[in-house]
Amino acid sequence: MAAGVNEFDLLVIGGGSGGLACAKEAADLGKKVAVMDYVVPSPRGTSWGLGGTCVNVGCIPKKLMHHSAILGHALRDAPAYGWQVAPSVPHNWRQMAQGIQNYVKSLNWGYRVQLQERKIKYFNIQGSFVNEHTVHGVDKSGKETKITADHVVIATGGRPRYPDNVEGAKEYGISSDDLFWLKESPGKTLVVGASYVSLECAGFLTGFGLDTTVMVRSIPLRGFDQQMALLVTSHMESQGTKFLKHCTMKKLEKLQNNQLKVYWNDHEENKECLDVFDTVLWAVGRVPETRGLNLEKVGVKLHPDSQKILVNANDETSVGHIFAIGDVSEGRPELTPTAIMAGKLLARRLFGRSSELMDYDNVPTTVFTPLEYGCVGLSEEEAEKRHGKDGIEVYHAYYRPLEFTVPERDSSQCYIKMVCLRDREQQILGLHFIGPNAGEVIQGFALGVKCGATYSQMKKTLGIHPTSAEEVVKLWITKRSALSATVTGC
Ligand code: FAD
Ligand code: NDP
Repeated sequence: MAAGVNEFDLLVIGGGSGGLACAKEAADLGKKVAVMDYVVPSPRGTSWGLGGTCVNVGCIPKKLMHHSAILGHALRDAPAYGWQVAPSVPHNWRQMAQGIQNYVKSLNWGYRVQLQERKIKYFNIQGSFVNEHTVHGVDKSGKETKITADHVVIATGGRPRYPDNVEGAKEYGISSDDLFWLKESPGKTLVVGASYVSLECAGFLTGFGLDTTVMVRSIPLRGFDQQMALLVTSHMESQGTKFLKHCTMKKLEKLQNNQLKVYWNDHEENKECLDVFDTVLWAVGRVPETRGLNLEKVGVKLHPDSQKILVNANDETSVGHIFAIGDVSEGRPELTPTAIMAGKLLARRLFGRSSELMDYDNVPTTVFTPLEYGCVGLSEEEAEKRHGKDGIEVYHAYYRPLEFTVPERDSSQCYIKMVCLRDREQQILGLHFIGPNAGEVIQGFALGVKCGATYSQMKKTLGIHPTSAEEVVKLWITKRSALSATVTGC
């Protein structure tokens, strides 16, 4: 069917962060828009409503569980600040989960209202291409719908990966898709993987007082500054999270009492090990949702390894009027703000006479571990690779958040590092912050880094006293000087 004679100007497949942003922007620009969103239940049978990964099984429930664990830590500090709380206050998973799940459900409803308000047609069906302009879907009751559109945006995201070489992995393990919707506490948990999802989940599970172990096959937080990554995991260890390093899973068996007997190989000790857990949580990465879309039929090309959709800077796929944004597209960060901005900019380019492309440089991010790690720009390793060891200056400081003093909390891992070019103005290439509220701290500095801020400008910036963020503008010790990086006093 030729462009212009289709039912909709735009069809978005996938109602998550990127898809909804794109659909809403296009509707605001006066276009006739349809959104398809469908959640295939996890192997455990968990399912949820409109809004995609972030809202239902990602950022939102994760941050709220992280907050719940942070509150637990605050309760431990409270007596030092005069609060008469019992020495041990139990955590009630059921109550927390219910509160969070109710909030998520309210967000699902909110998205439906937003679509209605903009007259965006919502289809709760799983889409699959029939031809270049036609997508077909089937709903829960088996009813078939065919939709035609001039432009199609694929924003189908990804789902948790399960290893295929581990017996019992899918049958007995769970993923982050299930964890946030559990009605009861997962109990003693083994978290497999060592990146964002794994460390964040292990962090809050430990915070609730659960016996929690992380299985790391190589290094933690691959791609991040490794000095910072090791501080994050050493803080987690100090809080009671156990780490099995250089280990890989072999087999899971279900015992009669429903516990799981887990077998793994320890490559450092060169031995086979086993233990019993209540829950095994797979956090070994995500698989793009490109499989059931019938992309081969319309000629949309995938990356041969990642199976993500190949796109150009314009978010265009190998087929002219079909676009892809967010986690499903190759080479993009898997983050909500990037998916949202990519979706909005794409709608403006398609329908708003804009030519603005998404800029993926200096994307800020935070790992919400018990001590948060926020960063923007290059890691020290990457800066060194690009500019040479003599081409960069690294300022750093170990600092003590004021609120840690009275309850005598250990602050050994509270650390800041600013990586700069080593010339007169010293442009900031990367900023790394470990400490309370790192996400809040890095968000503001990200603007500076995006605008090309230099160390000289940072030196002229006044701090807000007393805060942890002010330690960033006070940085003066270089790694090269070999002076002690421990900050003392005001
Ligand atoms: P998604 O949000 O995944 O949306 C895709 C939608 O398409 C889903 O609803 C899916 O069901 C639907 N769909 C798939 N196939 C079809 C089909 N054929 N037909 C119809 N519908 C379909 N990012 C952050 O920035 N900050 C965080 O703190 C953060 N925490 C996270 C924590 C966890 C545990 C996880 C897993 C992710 C986290 N992320 C975080 C990443 C963030 O959630 C994703 O980057 C973001 O949701 C990607 O948006 P998207 O629009 O590409 O896809
Ligand atoms: P990642 O792809 O980032 O990491 C996967 C982890 O699993 C790595 O540690 C990897 O180890 C390990 N792994 C992979 N396969 C196996 C295996 N077979 N056995 C053991 N370990 C294995 O995935 P995540 O799911 O953690 O995160 C996905 C994306 O979601 C992130 O990239 C991020 O963009 C987004 N996200 C963002 C968050 C935030 O903003 N705070 C929070 C959570 C997710 P190895 O290094 O050895 O390959």
